[in-house]
Amino acid sequence: MAFLGTVARRVMACHQPLSPLSRASTRCYNSQSTHTTEKSVPYEKTLKQEDGISGPTKPLPKSADVVVIGGGSLGCQTLYHLCKMGMTNVVLLERDRLTAGTTWHTAGLLWQLRPSDTEVELLAHTRNVISSELEEETGLETGWIQNGGLFIASNKQRLDEYKRLMSLGKAYGIESYVLSPAETQDLYPLMNVKDLYGTLYVPKDGTMDPAGTCTTLSRAATARGATVIENCPVTGVQVKVDDFGVKRVKAVETAHGTIQTPCVVNCAGVWATKLGKMAGVNVPLVAMHHAYVVTERIEGIQNMPNVRDHDASVYLRLQGDALSVGGYEQNPIFWDDVSDKFAFSLFDLDWDVFMQHIDGAVNRVPALEQTGIKSTVCGPGT
Ligand SMILES: Cc1cc2nc3c(=O)[nH]c(=O)nc-3n(C[C@H](O)[C@H](O)[C@H](O)COP(=O)(O)OP(=O)(O)OC[C@H]3O[C@@H](n4cnc5c(N)ncnc54)[C@H](O)[C@@H]3O)c2cc1C
Repeated sequence: MAFLGTVARRVMACHQPLSPLSRASTRCYNSQSTHTTEKSVPYEKTLKQEDGISGPTKPLPKSADVVVIGGGSLGCQTLYHLCKMGMTNVVLLERDRLTAGTTWHTAGLLWQLRPSDTEVELLAHTRNVISSELEEETGLETGWIQNGGLFIASNKQRLDEYKRLMSLGKAYGIESYVLSPAETQDLYPLMNVKDLYGTLYVPKDGTMDPAGTCTTLSRAATARGATVIENCPVTGVQVKVDDFGVKRVKAVETAHGTIQTPCVVNCAGVWATKLGKMAGVNVPLVAMHHAYVVTERIEGIQNMPNVRDHDASVYLRLQGDALSVGGYEQNPIFWDDVSDKFAFSLFDLDWDVFMQHIDGAVNRVPALEQTGIKSTVCGPGT
């Protein structure tokens, strides 16, 4: 078993000094890893082959008011909200099964406080939908876990920023508290607070379950009249030029038929650029690898809030009695050749890239130094 602390030392031992170039070009911990190597994961078989269906799960309608392309988090939310706005003749087309792209393996962290008021409003709304509205409407649980969120400030500027976030949150009714290091220690006994200025605690932050959320969204939308069709890749988007010289969507093509529609919503995640090209539209997205590791059990971690340390660029997500440790890579591996066959798949983790998060994570929760890694999750993000 590899321990987080050991991994960091092994990767460091390979690179003395560890330059950005050597990080990106060498593979020390895992020699299998290349920029686009897919990982063999058990989920792939179970999720892909659960029912052996190869064609579309429903017949295609001849026309629709809106066609949503992509059945991940964004597509399912879009479909549900269109239905809530009163539209019924709406269709979602998913190439594989719902969540097959990025959504199935997301860490699912939901932090309500962000610097932009639009985002704060959107996140508060999303939280409300997945934590209560959907359950009231469908009787189904989405898998939402409200374990709270804790932002770490290890300098005065960061704490000032969090105080501003708290004020912004108040305007939108989001409960939050600035905690001293001692109060933070009371809340999270396993945390090292020696280098802290303080923290921002948001008790109603939490973690969404991607599969549960998307299933519930699609059921709610279907009950309101929408149609969800899986195993149905879009192969083309027909456009026409109107009398004013403006390009308008006319129809969506698949191998199983064409749907006439005046409106398409491109929710194809890292495939959105490819979809855009079908309609002659440039979608400026870059696909890259993003990763977290899941640890073995940590005594005393149960019920702790999720942690975001912006200065260390690390997040710690509660996963039962363990943690998922991830962060935002400064030197990500880009996925230039986005594959149409990639569904419920992962990449091998590149430890050279990932190790930048380990020191920050171990500094914040020292118990991680001696904690084993149960699994790695490295998938496509934008
Ligand atoms: C490791 C990791 C951890 C993350 N953690 C978090 C987190 O904690 N919090 C957070 O907010 N975000 C997180 N993210 C980001 C978040 O998961 C994504 O932003 C989100 O899941 C993207 O959803 P989506 O619907 O846009 O894309 P996707 O889930 O990729 O959905 C796109 C769908 O389009 C389908 N599709 C593609 N081409 C076609 C076609 N031609 N026809 C029909 N369908 C097509 C695909 O099969 C796919 O199902 C994380 C990302 C990664 C990689």
